[in-house]
Amino acid sequence: MQYFNDKTVVYLNGSFVKATTANTDLYSQSLHYGYAAFEGIRAYNTHNGTRVFKAKDHFERLKRSCELVNIPFQWDIDELISKTYKVLELNNLRDAYIRPLVYCAPNMSLSEPTGVSIMICAWDWEAYLGNQLLNVGISSYQRPNPKSIPIDAKISAHYVNSILASTEAKKRGFNEALLLDMNNNIAEAPGANIFIEKNGTLYTPPAGHILPGITRTTVMQLCQRLDIECQEMVLTVADLMNADSAFFCGTATEIAGINAVEEIVLPMKWQDSLGATIQRTYKSLVLEKQNYEVII
Ligand code: PMP
Repeated sequence: MQYFNDKTVVYLNGSFVKATTANTDLYSQSLHYGYAAFEGIRAYNTHNGTRVFKAKDHFERLKRSCELVNIPFQWDIDELISKTYKVLELNNLRDAYIRPLVYCAPNMSLSEPTGVSIMICAWDWEAYLGNQLLNVGISSYQRPNPKSIPIDAKISAHYVNSILASTEAKKRGFNEALLLDMNNNIAEAPGANIFIEKNGTLYTPPAGHILPGITRTTVMQLCQRLDIECQEMVLTVADLMNADSAFFCGTATEIAGINAVEEIVLPMKWQDSLGATIQRTYKSLVLEKQNYEVII
């Protein structure tokens, strides 16, 4: 996967610069300690032009992630959104994945940052887990104890846990991992949230041990709109194994149906599931095919 070429332009601390000439410092606290915050955002080529889906929510979460770990956030959100559109325009991208990253200055001590930078880049990225139904393995890695690090912040260091879980699942022959929390309840995928369907209702783990995603909120809003019963509930592995259907959701993943968990194939045909309805409605929403703005 090539993320940039010699024409690619990124936004870096107020300027638009070539990705090939932009650089960072080897002594950055972010590189050594994972002390950085980032976002994953998607832009869609809609009939209203290129639209960054829920841009404000993402940049507000970036700000909150920084605040939760004492990284100063000194930028205006509307300005960052307008720079994001400019990055897309300069790179001639219509459908794109956008990655803002806030990272820290050189500082080898375990202290608050001595300086911060922001960069925004974008590239063309297919649905992260592809479009097939997923076989999911329960990870031997747990999501971190929320008392060890704010789990609802999107912090770079968290993603070592995600990488370990995903790599392990792939080595075991699965498409993706599902991580449990410190109490052995269902948490989330390495980069997505989970919903399960049982007897016509959708259930998803509550906030506390997960990154409560923006797509997860969108799914809950779509449920209201479609009159689908949806509840936040602590879920066990047995709940998942006995589910009628299940799906992952996230900005990069969008809505991805689950075929099986470990050796248990979920019984409902994906096209008959609530997840498939949500998948279709989500696509219409992000493509602005119907005007949900007034409803949500
Ligand atoms: N959980 C984790 C660990 C993630 O990395 C992501 C992706 N940001 C999500 C859930 C889904 O979040 P969102 O819907 O905001 O992309």
